[in-house]
Amino acid sequence: MSESFVRSSALMGTVITIEVIGHGGGGQGHLDREFAVDRAFDWFRTVEACCSRFDGESEVRRLSARAGEPVVASDMLFEAVRFALAVAEESGGAFDPTVGLHMEERGFDREHRTGRVVRTPLVPARPVSWRDVAVDHARKTVTLACPLLLDLGAVAKGLAIDMAARELAPFADFAVDAGGDVFVSGHNAEGAPWSVGIRHPRDERALIGTLRVSGVAVCTSGDYERRSPRDGAGHILDPRAGGPSTGVASVTVLAPSAMVADALGTAAFVLGPEKGIAFLERQGVDGLMVTPALERFETRSFASPGVTA
Ligand code: AMP
Ligand code: MG
Repeated sequence: MSESFVRSSALMGTVITIEVIGHGGGGQGHLDREFAVDRAFDWFRTVEACCSRFDGESEVRRLSARAGEPVVASDMLFEAVRFALAVAEESGGAFDPTVGLHMEERGFDREHRTGRVVRTPLVPARPVSWRDVAVDHARKTVTLACPLLLDLGAVAKGLAIDMAARELAPFADFAVDAGGDVFVSGHNAEGAPWSVGIRHPRDERALIGTLRVSGVAVCTSGDYERRSPRDGAGHILDPRAGGPSTGVASVTVLAPSAMVADALGTAAFVLGPEKGIAFLERQGVDGLMVTPALERFETRSFASPGVTA
């Protein structure tokens, strides 16, 4: 049993728990470890300040107010937008980061800390899509072709987990858990691979499986997470149908990066069970999808020896 250091903090509308085992191979001491964990938590604040749709001062909202001109973006915002557009293209528009105003209309308009309602004084001239967003890799600019509100809710948490994990890399054995979306590295306190439970989508006290994994992110999108105050439907939209996506109860994706697992899970959710699994296989990641009737769909190599379900 190795010594474990655990800290939790309420950030990004969820509870983040970071666990570090031992002091790392580089001779790091107690203080180094505490500082590294503090810096890891700071990434959640930094990503939120950059990518939050609910903060009028966030970089993404300032960008949304400047349609029609190329806007130089920070490395972080550029990376999040670039990646979201790539997933939009790969998923044929099932994933679409321009759903911001639509999310507001459906009642997803409250800042999680203050409960304050955030409304964007923006009237789109026409229906918008990810094709109205262009990035210039050389200049690091983002251009919105017309007024629209970007929503990076499906990538931001994963990005923050990845940044936190990078901060903790010198310690080799650690876990970052952001309300069920995790990145695990090395071994747990017992010297074994980490155990990651997959929540039952209809019973919050039950698990539908447990993964024994390491060096991987595991992210889950569920229809139970947040519901529209308008009609009780979930928080993932099908941009092609213009309404909530209802054919899936939860999607769990394993990937080398949490941003990838987070976004591909949301995309698969919208695509539905059959197309979603085919999409995850094409992207070279593993996943499990559960329908509202509790039918399970898995990628071919999901039920590997590390999975007990
Ligand atoms: P997640 O919980 O990772 O599945 O992400 C869900 C969040 O992504 C929602 O709260 C919205 O902010 C955003 N979102 C909803 N529908 C879509 C969509 N079709 N494509 C991209 N992002 C979406
Ligand atoms: Mg996601």
